[in-house]
Amino acid sequence: MERHILVTGGAGFIGSNFIAHMLINSNYFITNVDSLTYAGNFENTIPFEKSNRYRFIKADIGQKDELSKVYDQKYYAIINFAAESHVDRSIEDALPFIHTNIYGTYNLLQAVLTGKAQKMIQISTDEVYGSLEPDESPFIETTSLAPNNPYSASKASADLLVRSFFKTYQLPLTITRCSNNFGPMQHTEKFIPKVITNALNNIEIPIYGDGLNIRDWIYVEDHCRAIHSVLEKGVSGEVYNIGGSEEKTNLEIIDCILKELGKDKNLIKHVADRKGHDRRYSMDSSKISSELGWKPIISFNEGIKKTKEWYRQREQNSG
Ligand code: NAD
Repeated sequence: MERHILVTGGAGFIGSNFIAHMLINSNYFITNVDSLTYAGNFENTIPFEKSNRYRFIKADIGQKDELSKVYDQKYYAIINFAAESHVDRSIEDALPFIHTNIYGTYNLLQAVLTGKAQKMIQISTDEVYGSLEPDESPFIETTSLAPNNPYSASKASADLLVRSFFKTYQLPLTITRCSNNFGPMQHTEKFIPKVITNALNNIEIPIYGDGLNIRDWIYVEDHCRAIHSVLEKGVSGEVYNIGGSEEKTNLEIIDCILKELGKDKNLIKHVADRKGHDRRYSMDSSKISSELGWKPIISFNEGIKKTKEWYRQREQNSG
């Protein structure tokens, strides 16, 4: 039987990596709906057009009428990646975050409620849990939500809407919360692509505050494999934390990339800290490991080599 899935935000970083993964590792037919904001890169999706299991529809998930054009068929599942995703932009203007991350999620939940899709996976983030002290244990799925910036608040709001639709209407909904991703096809406004492309071009590398903020990094392909397991084996109403178990300070990341590229440390420039900057994130992924058999398989160093190579080739091709 043909099964169709609706991937939202599939021209973005993780969505496009997920579609690439699913075209190779599954038989699903994939509809990619994306409004192609500044963060969406249509070029990322061009290779998918070769597959007869793929189609692209341009629409805004926050506009119910516009979105209705994707429902010319029923979906086995919606996987909701579409989001405004950059914390700094949310500090400048939170409205687009409320539109896409909250209102857009609500529209997709309505689609499940009215039978247009059988189930939905909400792609969320560790940022909904807030910040950890250096000696605190990693976040678990029942850690209280304590978002500290408009981006994470909009994602936490969406998670609560998903929870409420599960509790109220008993819909088959799951939430995944992942730590910081890195890998090919990420926008260069984000930390690791910015460090790599600036270093390749001998441009100063800005680093917030003392550079000692800690993130738990995961290679994007490992995240995509985790979402695939949740699609196949995830239990409705559950939340699954996904992390790479690779906690690193921002300075450690820059050091590693500069060494990898053979560049000098004097490219680093400390700048004023981000407002409300969370100090540390760390994920406990033991639930998804023990219940769904997933674990990350690409180490940070291996992932950085692949990522560096992808950006190096892209810089070369763009002349
Ligand atoms: P991204 O910014 O690279 O991509 C977002 C995509 O969504 C873009 O293609 C954009 O055009 C599209 N989009 C934005 N608004 C839209 C709208 N209203 N309608 C339709 N499409 C719209 O983001 P990403 O890094 O790939 O993140 C994907 C998801 O994963 C997000 O929900 C994010 O919160 C979550 N997440 C990201 C990370 C990370 O490290 N990048 C970690 C954990 C969770």
